[in-house]
Amino acid sequence: MKCVVVTGIPGVGKTTVLNSALEKLEEEFEIINFGDKMFEVASEEKLVENRDEMRKLPPEVQKRIQKLAAMAIAKRAEVANVIVDTHCTVKTPAGFLPGLPRWVLEELKPTQIVLVEAEPEEIQRRRTSDATRVRDEDSVEEIALHQEMNRAAAMAYAMFTGATVIIVENHDNRLEEAVDQLVKAM
Ligand code: AMP
Ligand code: MG
Repeated sequence: MKCVVVTGIPGVGKTTVLNSALEKLEEEFEIINFGDKMFEVASEEKLVENRDEMRKLPPEVQKRIQKLAAMAIAKRAEVANVIVDTHCTVKTPAGFLPGLPRWVLEELKPTQIVLVEAEPEEIQRRRTSDATRVRDEDSVEEIALHQEMNRAAAMAYAMFTGATVIIVENHDNRLEEAVDQLVKAM
């Protein structure tokens, strides 16, 4: 079955775009949140209390949980078309951690990689107004750098898998346009 990976830095609104896109897609897809799968493992092992603590764990621990999450998602992708809501890179205290290193790509075998982007200023505002999450307080420059790193990472993942890379812009008050861009590409 198909596996499409949808990425975007925290606060860009990828979950929102995805939920609206799901209703408009012709084919049946199931959205799987990579962070949810990782959190299941991490909280079972009592490593964290909330999902925003995971990116602060030692990289080796994050990578071990990441692999387990990828295996669980791959199993589901055998029987259903899946859209994976995840990150091209995760900003950790030890540096940018690849969200889709070789061992994850080998499990997921994505055919498309979507980058949901917005202006750094828009992302910064959205993070400040989201009280449900513990978002990082990054400067506009740091947010811009993170998006640049994600573009580079996405193309590296494409080289490895042959997946195509799509950039979807999710600007303020233009959610429908973002959703249409995504639906058209899939
Ligand atoms: P999210 O709700 O999408 O921001 O994801 C919550 C957390 O899950 C992130 O802050 C990361 O710690 C973790 N996460 C999600 N996707 C990945 C991935 N592909 N690789 C490593 N960690 C991930
Ligand atoms: Mg999300």
